[in-house]
Amino acid sequence: MPKVEQHVHLEGTVSPEMVVMFADRNGCKLPDDFIKNGEYSWNGFDEFINAYDIVASCIKTASDYSDIIYDYLIRSADENVIFCEIGYSPYHGMVNAGLSHEELVDCLSDGINRAKEKTGIECRLLCTIVRFLGNVDAVKIAEDIAIYLHKHEEKYVTGFGIAGLEREDDIFAFEEAFRIANEAGKGLTAHAGENCGSVSVRNSLKAIPCLKRIGHGVRILEDKKLVEEIIDKEIVLEVCPSSNVKTGVLKDVDDVANHPLRKLVDLGVRCTVNSDDPPFFHSSIGNEYQLLHGKMGFSIEEIISITNTAIESAFVEDSVKTKLQGKLADFISMINYT
Ligand SMILES: [Zn+2]
Repeated sequence: MPKVEQHVHLEGTVSPEMVVMFADRNGCKLPDDFIKNGEYSWNGFDEFINAYDIVASCIKTASDYSDIIYDYLIRSADENVIFCEIGYSPYHGMVNAGLSHEELVDCLSDGINRAKEKTGIECRLLCTIVRFLGNVDAVKIAEDIAIYLHKHEEKYVTGFGIAGLEREDDIFAFEEAFRIANEAGKGLTAHAGENCGSVSVRNSLKAIPCLKRIGHGVRILEDKKLVEEIIDKEIVLEVCPSSNVKTGVLKDVDDVANHPLRKLVDLGVRCTVNSDDPPFFHSSIGNEYQLLHGKMGFSIEEIISITNTAIESAFVEDSVKTKLQGKLADFISMINYT
């Protein structure tokens, strides 16, 4: 089945084999028990963030970045992914590898072009700002990044979003960054309603009037009126089932079988399915689709509809959307024929 992904973080796609390769070639030392039986070893949300940072700290050069995106797109194409939006952080590109925004986008574009040439997979980049950077002024950095995008025509950078540890009301500080990114024609999304409750989603809607999608957002179920507002405004939730279960952000959800995606779809909320940081959750986008059909009980028709929502709400030119919808239509006629 053709698949579409719109919520996955660049550093979060690095496989354990790849981080060992980077550590060797860049002279970094990984903690002794960091990888067990070929998988990242961590427990709980804080250890997950720490593991993510260790992986990110082994990425040191432009060619590392190009290899990461190429490798992920090739693996995705193997799972029949036809379109993927990948979140990258200009701040981390600068800190990890000393790359300017322009250099980072250039090497990522190189990886995208190589993967497209080999497999036909389409990819766009979602520029991701970070909510909290310790002693560093995260708001000023976010605005500088937005201004850069306003000034420079970056063909593959079609979206602008925010990630990092959520707080209920910190989103208001980033209003100006989102306003500029919107003016630059970028599609807007924000992580909210993951480890913070529904208030973080409500505040995101207030702070970012042109918000099109929400990263996670699953905790809107705590507020019935908010669910209605999300449906009315046709805002799409980028849902990441395995991520939510493994990081333990949802109370009483210890298996994807009781993940709230089923309930959200039944209520009429537009949702997509995503892998977030797949090797950290022992998953992949193909595996998330399998869980939809297996443990979560979605029919093929419902999964096609979720994929179609992902195409409609993708931050990509209409001509590409039409092409992707054609591939989905080919699949539908094939299963109707057989
Ligand atoms: Zn995420």
